[in-house]
Order: sequence, then C-alpha cells, then structure tokens
Amino acid sequence: MEEDLYAVLGVHKTATSAEIKKAYHKAALASHPDKVPEEEREEAEVRFKVVSQAYEILSDDSQRSLYDRHGMDAFTKGRAPSYEDDFQDFFGFGGGPGFRDNGYGGSQFGSKPRTENAQFEISISLKNAYIGKTEKMSIKRNIVCQTCKGSGAKSTAKPRKCGHCKGAGVVPGHMPIGGGMSIQVNRNCPVCAGSGNIVKDKDKCKKCKGKMILEETKIIEVYIPPGIQDGEKIVKKGMADEAVRQETGDIIFIINIEKHDQFTRVGNDLRATINITLVEALCGLDRQIIQHLDERVLRLKVPPGKVISPGKILLVEGEGMPIKSGPNAGGRGDLYLDIDIEFPKDNWFADRSEMRRVADSLTFPPSKPVYTPKSETDAPPIEDMVAFNLVDSDAEFGKYEGYHGEDNEDDWDDEEEEQGAECATQ
Ligand SMILES: [Zn+2]
Ligand SMILES: [Zn+2]
Repeated sequence: MEEDLYAVLGVHKTATSAEIKKAYHKAALASHPDKVPEEEREEAEVRFKVVSQAYEILSDDSQRSLYDRHGMDAFTKGRAPSYEDDFQDFFGFGGGPGFRDNGYGGSQFGSKPRTENAQFEISISLKNAYIGKTEKMSIKRNIVCQTCKGSGAKSTAKPRKCGHCKGAGVVPGHMPIGGGMSIQVNRNCPVCAGSGNIVKDKDKCKKCKGKMILEETKIIEVYIPPGIQDGEKIVKKGMADEAVRQETGDIIFIINIEKHDQFTRVGNDLRATINITLVEALCGLDRQIIQHLDERVLRLKVPPGKVISPGKILLVEGEGMPIKSGPNAGGRGDLYLDIDIEFPKDNWFADRSEMRRVADSLTFPPSKPVYTPKSETDAPPIEDMVAFNLVDSDAEFGKYEGYHGEDNEDDWDDEEEEQGAECATQ
C-alpha cells in the first residue's frame, strides 16, 4: 500500500470527517462491484477494497493521525508492534474476525477468505408451491479431508511448516490497480497450496492423497414452504465447497415455479376459468365447480334469481395461495374465477314454439335508440339489411393494415360464404 489515502477518496488532507464520509460514499458507489459490467468487476472489487480501506483509516481519528505521521508504514505488519494485533484483525492476517459480509460475498479486507456460493435452480409445480414440499437435492461438493483435518499428512507424520508462508497458508501479495497504486491482498501460498505444511510423499494422507480435499455427493433436503414465490431463494448456509482455511460459502436454491394449465398466480391470488351453461347463468347453479391445487373439489351455489352475465367474475375469498410472510402471513389469497358461458348451438329448439316461450319469458327494456334525432325532420341515412358473418375470432382484425408496396386488388367481397345472413332476415 503505497498510495495516498486522501487521493484515493479525492479529498484534501485537511478534509473534515463529514467530507471524508461523503467522498467515501461517492467513491464506494462508483466502484461497487455490483454496479459495474462483468468484465470490470475484478478491477472494481480491488478498487472498492482500496476505497474502503482508505475510509477505515481516515474515518478513525487515532488511525488517521497515525497515518498522517507515518504513512502506511504505521499499518505495515512488524513495524508498529503496538498495532500488530489490531492490524491482524483489521486486515485479516491470521484469520481474525476482520470485516466480513460486506454484501458481495467476499471479505472486505482479505480477511479469512470464503469459498464461492453455489446456486441451483429447483423447479416445482404450482401445486407443490401451494401445498409445500421437501425436495431432495443431490449435490457434489468439495470437503476438507477429515482424516488429515486438511493437513494432507498422515497423523503419524510430522509435517514441516511451509517456509514460504511460515505456516500461514497465505502470502501477502500486491495487486496493481492502475495509476501506480497497488493493494495488498492475501493469496494462497503457491508452495504449500494453502495448507501451511510441506508433506513428504510417504507421509501424505492416504484418504486424500495429500490433496487435503475430497469430493462428496451429499443429499440435501430443501424444505419448500407452502406459498413460496417464483424466484425466491432458499439459502443453506455453509454448504458450498469447503476449502482449507476458508470459510464455506452458501448454497443458494432458486425456486422456479412451472406454469399451470388451469391456474395462474399473481402475488398470492389465483385465477382460473370455469365453464357454465347459459341456463346456469340465467337460472343459478349448485354444483362442483372446480378442483383446487390440493385436490379439494369446490362446490358452490348461485341461487336462482342471481344472473351471471358475461364479464362477471366469481371471487372466492381465502381460496388463493397460502401467504408465507408479511402482514397477512398465515392467511390465504383469493381465487378469481372467470366465467365462460356456454351457449346452445344453432337451432337449439325442437320447434319454434319453444323458442317463443323462452323469448316470452325473458323480458328486457326496449333497446336504446342508436341515434337521437335533433329535430322532427332530422334522420340519419339508414343502411338496410347489412350483410355479416358470425365468426369465432378476431384474428383477421386489422388485416387491411396499410400499403405494402403494391396495389392490391379489391378481393374482400368474394372471400367467404355469407353464413348467418339468414338470421338477419328473421
Ligand atoms: Zn487427508
Ligand atoms: Zn506455504
């Protein structure tokens, strides 16, 4: 660390602690590894460390005055014995508690390194999101050999302390970060591969053959609570790969909820479409209407006299998804049932008198006039007996959309048979 900590934060030597704090926030935000493109991340991580380190020193009055008097020498191991212990904790030499959990998985000052988090996706059905499930996941991971406790040596062997790292397993290294600056980082010792020991071939642990690490296949039970959301994460702390002298990262399971044929979910509410007949829409119903995700069949009654008109929705409160957290935890969302009314086919009556009976029993107010004359002589032009088709979809709506570079012939009037025109004459 040869750099000027004030320059790192972009403040003057006489800056107040408020100015230093402000400058730190700005610099930390600009170099936060989560805020930069992938390819700049490594550099940003280093820059972020430098900025954080500068702030840690300059924001502490006693450390700042030490730095002002002695520069970084005041913080270099061995030169300021009274600070050595603090320094070890501070910068993580010797695996002190240091500064961890800075929000992006690493350790702020190269304190005890941590193995990478592992991520797995778990796909579940909406049904299992509704009722909950315990998913068994088979995970391959590295673990520290328990026979040699990560030393790589037989228990009878007397391993020699690695001379290169003096048994620490890590060596301080300098990582250039541009602008002539560099940062001190801990690296795994290249001589002993991080074990801190040198082991002769004949003394190597039989189990791991001196590699200190074994691969295990582990079955992990992941409990998926009822009401879990799509994209939700379930974290198994300290279950990722182990490494010698490193904290173990987490396994993060990301829940993917598959689409359901019948039910759609928004938040904790569910939505589905039910079919009822025109008679039921007019005369009420009392029957099993839908089978729920947990296989219960819902029966409901629309009393005679209640008309279900198109566009109406049956709202069944408390039949949505279980609510897992938040102010309504323990409750349930609602179930919205869209209604598809099934009409009879053409010529549904046995004879016309039946149709007349229905017509007579259904009374409606007279239809509203489409045009209100402004005076006694005012009348719009009337187009009599307009021909039409009854079609099933509007898929062709908009087909005469515009000019496509060639004059199209008028071919729209001989396209289809004019079904349904008969109706218009009745
Ligand atoms: Zn071993
Ligand atoms: Zn070593």
